[in-house]
Amino acid sequence: MLDKFKDECGVFGIFGHPEAANMTYLGLYALQHRGQESAGIAASDGGQVRVSRAMGYVADTFDGTALAQLPGSLAIGHVRYSTAGESKLSNAQPILIDCAHGQIALCHNGNLVNAREVRDDLVRQGSIFQSSSDTEVILHLYARSKAVNAEDAVIESVSQVQGAFSLVMLTKDRLIAVRDPHGFRPLALGRLGDAVVVCSETCAMDLIGATYVRDVEPGEVLVVTAGGVRSIKPYPPAPLAHCIFEHVYFARPDSYVFGKSVNEVRTTLGRILAREHPVDADVVVPVPDSGVCAAMGYGEESRVPLRMGLIRNHYVGRTFIQPQASIRHFGVKVKLNPVKSILEGQRVVLVDDSIVRGTTSRKIVRLVRAAGAREVHVRISCPPTISPCYYGIDTPQRSELIAATHSVQEITQFLDADSVGYLSLEGLLSAVGAERGSYCSSCYTGRYPVALPTDEQRYLQLALKLDKSETVAAKLEKSEPVAK
Ligand code: SF4
Repeated sequence: MLDKFKDECGVFGIFGHPEAANMTYLGLYALQHRGQESAGIAASDGGQVRVSRAMGYVADTFDGTALAQLPGSLAIGHVRYSTAGESKLSNAQPILIDCAHGQIALCHNGNLVNAREVRDDLVRQGSIFQSSSDTEVILHLYARSKAVNAEDAVIESVSQVQGAFSLVMLTKDRLIAVRDPHGFRPLALGRLGDAVVVCSETCAMDLIGATYVRDVEPGEVLVVTAGGVRSIKPYPPAPLAHCIFEHVYFARPDSYVFGKSVNEVRTTLGRILAREHPVDADVVVPVPDSGVCAAMGYGEESRVPLRMGLIRNHYVGRTFIQPQASIRHFGVKVKLNPVKSILEGQRVVLVDDSIVRGTTSRKIVRLVRAAGAREVHVRISCPPTISPCYYGIDTPQRSELIAATHSVQEITQFLDADSVGYLSLEGLLSAVGAERGSYCSSCYTGRYPVALPTDEQRYLQLALKLDKSETVAAKLEKSEPVAK
């Protein structure tokens, strides 16, 4: 697998459609890029909420029989990449519980930064947790709420957590969507005929023929019932912190997130990159698929022809889950093949969206050189990534981020490139235009908009995937302090 930050999760919900589970299946299909470890759907027929979850891709998880067992006109769904908690079925979502307020199923995209503190507190008071997912704390708080109805219980429980959360919930007769006051993760609202749709990215609406209406606003609670859609703003406003990496890499280019076309933003990043880091070259080559939009922008701006000099094999299995370096490197060769007729004797601008550890980028540069390229100039459509993310993206420790510990000159040497040019932070922010002040860019600055708990290592303990071969304590000993 290519060395990338890992996508977080995708959520989907629909109210008022006779084939709600089928629509949710399709929606999750479109959101598969946001998480491939597990998938799940919960549906209600008005009397009972049923859930089906499994490890694996959406297409492998659900068939006609499984979907037929999820009747009803309300449904929610989730695809997951584990950013907090282990990769196992008990952590898959939706999580369904039955409590004094009745049944409720929950899907979460994001990471709660105070989950460990809340969880410890709840455990001391007698709560028994079924998973290691941070999301479960919300349901425990919900179950304990003395509020008189489900909506108030949701509002009360969510007010006790901090961090990044785009939530979609289902009771037997209502759909509830909540976005954290900072708006870290996207959550869009749409319509499909009379049905109401909420989802992480608009590409899920496109697939089912729904129309985008607006984003669920940061801090907004949307309650969808047979009586219509009600908007509640129960939380104090907070500085906005949309994840700018959604535009750089995570979201699909055919989506609109935070009200902007991902494709347009990404292409603009390439244009600005070309202005900031021009180079005499014969051909612009994207690292597929992540570098394609930025490479188009770079090619347009520099008037150097864009050619697909690397071909991606889309049918490679998920060998990258294996942590061994040997398998990661092998995966690059399996996944990308250079086109000699395009690269031989050429001065190549190789465009990608990010460098994480640098090991994969080095392999790719060497592939291009081995195919006969005369020069290889690496151009990256975001600034150097120097800090981990605590808001729902799986990132390596700071010590593993090559830009955190190496200069651009050292990175150039490590990659075996002729030059390396990163987009500036100013360039990145200018690509999102007037809303630049509403974005989080902590992985490039080390300045975090939502404070981490005072005992940061305990947070890391929750976020680290537990590994049978290595204790958490041992991992923590190895981890570096995080830049603040
Ligand atoms: S730290 Fe980076 S990846 Fe995480 S929310 Fe902020 S911009 Fe996104």
